[in-house]
Amino acid sequence: MEKNNSSLLAQQKFMRMAIDEAQQAKILNEVPIGAVVVHDGQVIGRGHNMREKFQDVTYHAEMLAIMEACTNLHSWRLEDCDLYVTLEPCIMCSGAIINARIKNVYYGAPDPKAGAVDSLYHLLTDSRLNHQVNVYSGILGDECSQMLKSFFREIRRRRKEARRKK
Ligand SMILES: [Zn+2]
Repeated sequence: MEKNNSSLLAQQKFMRMAIDEAQQAKILNEVPIGAVVVHDGQVIGRGHNMREKFQDVTYHAEMLAIMEACTNLHSWRLEDCDLYVTLEPCIMCSGAIINARIKNVYYGAPDPKAGAVDSLYHLLTDSRLNHQVNVYSGILGDECSQMLKSFFREIRRRRKEARRKK
């Protein structure tokens, strides 16, 4: 029995919750990225990107989910927690994940331009740091990346339309 990582079915269930969070971002016209933190099979933190709404660079989905989890556990240590996020975490969020000592990270789509887990850097598994994270990528990856692609396609379409109207 694998005890450290959750079953494929559980992974997909929690990733679907992260996708639901991403949809909330989309409704607010934010880039659709969502995250949940899971502890003992329970979601204890959730978040979606709200950078534009609050004009705050730290309002990434992962940061908000981690903050809520810390509040709920009354601890900055999320040692027995898993994070599910629809997009590969950036440098800032990877830093927060390491500092919070999160055990497992499951992400959906890779981020070739800013990903700090596999794409540009390997922060979560860097043995020079005092904490390493188990990383699982590609959980409902197609769905996660389609969601982003269609969002940016729609933005381009709207921009084109606006230009045409001028
Ligand atoms: Zn981030």
